[in-house]
Amino acid sequence: MPVRPKKRLGQHFLTDPNVIGKIVAAVGAPEGAPVVEIGPGEGALTAPLLARYPGLTAVEVDEEAVAHLRARFPSLHVRHADVLALDWAALAAERGDPLWVVGNLPYYITSPILFGLLDAREHLRRAVVMMQREVAERIVAAPGSKAYGILSVQLQLFARPELLFRVSRHVFRPKPDVESAVLALDFDGPTPTGVDSDRLRRVVRTAFGQRRKMLRNSLAALDAPHPLPDAYATRRPESLDPAAFVALTRALYDGDG
Ligand code: SAM
Repeated sequence: MPVRPKKRLGQHFLTDPNVIGKIVAAVGAPEGAPVVEIGPGEGALTAPLLARYPGLTAVEVDEEAVAHLRARFPSLHVRHADVLALDWAALAAERGDPLWVVGNLPYYITSPILFGLLDAREHLRRAVVMMQREVAERIVAAPGSKAYGILSVQLQLFARPELLFRVSRHVFRPKPDVESAVLALDFDGPTPTGVDSDRLRRVVRTAFGQRRKMLRNSLAALDAPHPLPDAYATRRPESLDPAAFVALTRALYDGDG
């Protein structure tokens, strides 16, 4: 696998033992549980994680980091892989199901990683992940707020997101331009039933793709088999809570409501 230039991989390494300790404590997996670290880099989180979870698996794309991890932690299961191409179901079948996930994410691919976790949710129990603070705040945002959008609806429907704590940019090396936060996603709760998740995703994306428009205008592009019920016609997407997006998708594709 070709090694991409480091700065494109979003490498900001953790240096503060307090923050490292708080992240490791937040994982909350029982002893012996299968834990997977995304993007371990030089191993700042890996060392304390491995001490607590000897069956730890690490997924890292950077060749140099992989060589370093293998030398430093001989018992660690290192996957030299792109997390976006990871087969979570196969990993769970091999390491234990459900998996517990942790990581200081490469920020430039936070959203695709999160959507990958959502798609794999039946094989996951909980993820504790650090990301850009603004993204974490969008995920937990309430309807009606400026930050509320695609990430809020999808993650609030299919996981239970909780913003655990904020992290200053001064505890990283090199210092990033943005502030960070640690978010937990629990996958053990109920998820919407009776709705096709691809259709739901399409409705949410289309509605927020033109978030200032009324739904009767933005959703015309969907070409769904059933008409938009009048109750939604003049509303804008940020006024719909996550459950309303489920009802709206059912109305458009199944004629319910
Ligand atoms: N966990 C370390 C820490 O906190 O000090 C490093 C975190 S750094 C923000 C992100 C790490 O993710 C880097 O080690 C980088 O090589 C790795 N990475 C970047 N893109 C990746 C990908 N697509 N798949 C797996 N790892 C990736």
